[in-house]
Amino acid sequence: MTTSIQRVRVRVEGVVQGVGFRPFVHRLAHELGLAGFVRNDARGAVIEAEGDPAAIEALLSRLPAEAPPLAEVVVAGTEVVPARGERVFAIAESAAGGPPDAQISPDSATCAACLRELFDPADRRHRYPFINCTDCGPRFTIVRGVPYDRPLTTMAAFTMCARCQSEYDDPADRRFHAQPNACPDCGPRLSEPLERFVAVLQTGGIVAVKGIGGFHLACLAGDERAVAELRARKHREEKPFALMARDVRAASDLVRLGPLEAALLRGRDRPIVLAPRRPGARVAAAVAPRSAELGVMLPYSPLHHLLLADVGEPLVMTSGNVSDEPIAFEDDDALARLRGIADAFLLHDRPIETRTDDSVLRIARGRPLPLRRSRGAVPSVLALPVPPAQHLLACGAELKSTFCVARGRRAWVSHHIGDLQNAETLASFERGIAHFERLFAVAPEVVAHDLHPDYLSTAYALAREGVAHVAVQHHHAHLAACLAEHGETGPAVGAIFDGAGLGSDGTVWGGEILVGDLRTFERAGHLWPVALPGGDRAAREPWRMACSWRLAAGGDPRPLRGVDPERWHAVARIAESGLNSPPTTSVGRLFDAVAALCGLRLEVSYEGQAAMELEAACDGAERGAYPLRTVAGVLDARETIRAIDRDVSRGTATGTIAARFHHALADATAAECAQLAGDRGLDTVVLSGGAFQNRRLLERTAAALEHAGVRVLVPERLPPNDGGVAFGQAAVAAARSALV
Ligand code: ZN
Ligand code: ZN
Ligand code: FE
Repeated sequence: MTTSIQRVRVRVEGVVQGVGFRPFVHRLAHELGLAGFVRNDARGAVIEAEGDPAAIEALLSRLPAEAPPLAEVVVAGTEVVPARGERVFAIAESAAGGPPDAQISPDSATCAACLRELFDPADRRHRYPFINCTDCGPRFTIVRGVPYDRPLTTMAAFTMCARCQSEYDDPADRRFHAQPNACPDCGPRLSEPLERFVAVLQTGGIVAVKGIGGFHLACLAGDERAVAELRARKHREEKPFALMARDVRAASDLVRLGPLEAALLRGRDRPIVLAPRRPGARVAAAVAPRSAELGVMLPYSPLHHLLLADVGEPLVMTSGNVSDEPIAFEDDDALARLRGIADAFLLHDRPIETRTDDSVLRIARGRPLPLRRSRGAVPSVLALPVPPAQHLLACGAELKSTFCVARGRRAWVSHHIGDLQNAETLASFERGIAHFERLFAVAPEVVAHDLHPDYLSTAYALAREGVAHVAVQHHHAHLAACLAEHGETGPAVGAIFDGAGLGSDGTVWGGEILVGDLRTFERAGHLWPVALPGGDRAAREPWRMACSWRLAAGGDPRPLRGVDPERWHAVARIAESGLNSPPTTSVGRLFDAVAALCGLRLEVSYEGQAAMELEAACDGAERGAYPLRTVAGVLDARETIRAIDRDVSRGTATGTIAARFHHALADATAAECAQLAGDRGLDTVVLSGGAFQNRRLLERTAAALEHAGVRVLVPERLPPNDGGVAFGQAAVAAARSALV
């Protein structure tokens, strides 16, 4: 019956290019007996399907439900068009024209089908370190421009052999239009045979390994001497090293894994997952000193799979850099910078376009808590609850920097860029912004930035001419980021605890209780302010904060053990005089003070180190809490400090003191926020800021709030630290722009 034949045109957006979407549509249409075509264009894909209306209905419902693993299907519109009497369903050539709007998929771990081929001696890609298909492989890190097509990737220089080309051209093949498709005959190669590097590793050497987003430094995880040597060569760096284990079973020899941790480890984005260290795990002491957790990931490139299989035991896989520098991702740079660290360089000739660090997360409240959102997650789109009136760019903060571009409801938060005070990092920040503007066709008319005039991200923002500038207070951005990632606009109460951010009153904030929505906020409370003696130096020398807090608390004036009495008194004098000692409400600095008072750490080599170690030191069995009173919205920790001093002088165990302090801060915060929410008729409290990377603090605060009947929102897709600030700035700028 020809009269019942219908033809529809379906516009599909989302991630549909280079992920096997067209062959999938082709198979589906074939199965349903539909004619027509599917075609990529600048905005995604267009399908025209002709045939029985019930079959068309089935196509529409199965499109999103059965799409290939890397695809994100958004059906943006469906219209009925005149039937053409076609008989076949075709994959049509891409149409040019219109602004590019197709989304690029993040890099994805080697899929099961490719893994089977990798280890199959009969397969033509047996042990080929660059095997991939439309379901897996590098994406974002090899993209040079859009449309996402081989000539605009770092695979452009490799010409496919006849067999690879025929896979690439065959809609029925798993490698149809897999842009990085390659084989040993035509694709990228290792610099030298793998055996050599396996031998170096097995004999305790250090190998620089070129991966997907940059270089790793690898050595045997259980080799005390090798790991200590790596740490020494990396110049006293004290951050924990990440580990790579062959599979979940091997990972669970190192850390305790629940079902959620195991699922996250196996995810296509292959993040580093922090989990509790297993007692007796065969891991060198220098891997993560003073840490109760280890960061573990599974192999995510075929090269990693081969390396782990051949070496036969877990490896340290830490970023290929010297202390605070950004990780190396270009061969020459890696050879120059890592020469003094690595005994051998495992290189290959597929260039990395964009430096992308490993993503890191831990689990809190039974959900993932991102600490760094980068490889595997970027450049997935995030939705803004209020679309901006114009295209916008948000420049973020300064440490753990990211930026964000947005157009309509869609926002793209960049990979982790790092500390902008490093010249090379600043350069990749600027290059990254230009890259994202091109990839996502964003021409910013509004540029959001932090209030802090000295942040290099602010300077960059202000140097952009012909745009409107929007300054966003740091802690408001943290609050807005969390609301927006949950699709909410507020108002809500927010406890935003971090190291530092410039406040609206010109002082250094960091322990803020805000009431706000995406547009505006009010500072309803904060931590008791104390002097920050020596400004930024105080963040590197926690004993200074111990001195400052002791002074404020009117407690023991004697110098802390281990601190030169003369320096202590000098710091006490500047703290009292206010000279180069701005007042701060920073929770991060309160943690520093407590860590120093306990004798845990007088100096740190990176932001947050003292707090991390204080959390790790907590005695899980301790139930007590120190007093911490709140008066008129001010969390007065002076009595807490006096109580800690008393316990220290009594010889109370550090683990007990650490736990009682965490409990005090969590309980006081929850009580104050619940009270405030009640007073203002609000039902939601946001917990964010870098201090809430601390699971003990986060879980106890959230549990107390929930016990009081308050709904708690915590960042789940973006980190609570400054890596989330850019998205918050974008949400604020968007909400403000929607007004006019
Ligand atoms: Zn694959
Ligand atoms: Zn080939
Ligand atoms: Fe912050």
